[in-house]
Amino acid sequence: MGSVSKHGFLKRTLSAKKKLFIAGPCSVESEEQMLRTAMQLSAYEVTLIRGGVWKPRTRPGSFEGVGDKGLVWLKQAGNAVGLPVATEVANPTHVEACLKAGVDVLWIGARTTTSPFAVQQIADALRDVDIPVMIKNPMNPDIELWVGAIERINKAGITKIIVVHRGFSTYGDTLYRNQPIWRIPIELRRRLPHLPLICDPSHICGKQRYVMAIAQQAIDLLFDGLMIEVHCAPRSALSDQGQQMTPAQYGRLITKLHYVSSSGPKHLPEAIRFLRNEIDEIDDDVIALLAKRMECVKRIGIWKRNHNVSLFQPERWEQILQGRVQSSMKRRLSGSFVRNLFEHIHEEALNIQGRIRAGRSGSRRHRRVEAFTAEHFENDRRASAECDVDELIWAGKSGIVPRCHVRDSASV
Ligand code: PEP
Ligand code: MN
Repeated sequence: MGSVSKHGFLKRTLSAKKKLFIAGPCSVESEEQMLRTAMQLSAYEVTLIRGGVWKPRTRPGSFEGVGDKGLVWLKQAGNAVGLPVATEVANPTHVEACLKAGVDVLWIGARTTTSPFAVQQIADALRDVDIPVMIKNPMNPDIELWVGAIERINKAGITKIIVVHRGFSTYGDTLYRNQPIWRIPIELRRRLPHLPLICDPSHICGKQRYVMAIAQQAIDLLFDGLMIEVHCAPRSALSDQGQQMTPAQYGRLITKLHYVSSSGPKHLPEAIRFLRNEIDEIDDDVIALLAKRMECVKRIGIWKRNHNVSLFQPERWEQILQGRVQSSMKRRLSGSFVRNLFEHIHEEALNIQGRIRAGRSGSRRHRRVEAFTAEHFENDRRASAECDVDELIWAGKSGIVPRCHVRDSASV
């Protein structure tokens, strides 16, 4: 590895609070391609050269990597520019070949992280080995699977672990190849704050032209570094052609990145403190309103159970969704944000009503609601078979909502 000590780059970059920049082609294709890419990259800020030699391809028949011989080309390229190198491993045979070839850092790809069996086999092969391992998120947005993979590798004795956010796969046409769902890496960082967290914008974007924006967003979210696919001739790349950039484009990206400070000035300006107080109070109100809403949901749930009405009411749901998205537009809120929010609220409402139907909502508070509602249904029945139930349940009684049109709006 030339003059670079084995884990020196980790100490240098992470402890110095500098960012970790990993760059290189999606796949190692030839000795010349690797060498040219590494040489051109070395003109810019790079900590580690990447290149896959065994490529996990979705469909058979695509380029599946050059295999073991690629390790030699990868190492040669790293040595030529005095940088450590990293490649992906998906099984114990790969691990063994990498250790033999002197690869400096390993990574576990998204497809592998998805499989606990595969991760465990890799962990077993890594026992008593001191090598940094990068662990990409699983294909599906399941944080536990990601944490589980980290734990398996850590239990094997690997302490130098870096986590890589590369987005989550989805169905259908979307702007990004893999959805960033930033709240997942943010939650991972909250749970495992001691682990460096980096972002792979290339695999999130799928298209080179979006990479800069996602890279900047990651830096704004205080990620510790980036892994970017760079190829000396992206147009002729054998894999992930559309998302790779040239070394010169990479250089521009690195120099254009804008850095933010994590804490801001020691003494917050009065206006910021005021705004934060406002936010705290608003959040309290939001929670109180949600609790109120769920109380309505419970009462409707009891009515649905008593009248054998399905929990899910497609028409009502459609009406809620359209109405909320429309009013969000009027208030200049993002429609997709409000839609997502209401999808969560609706899911929780259905869960609550599902528990009521199954007779599992045994909290004391709920029993009181139930008794109250049952009493009024009883009045309802006595009053008239045709009477509007809402009048009887809500008229002047609950103080929660003035009128709740149960007949027209049996869903939540
Ligand atoms: C890669 O980095 O080339 C790769 C295959 O990534 P992922 O596992 O994130 O799809
Ligand atoms: Mn790739």
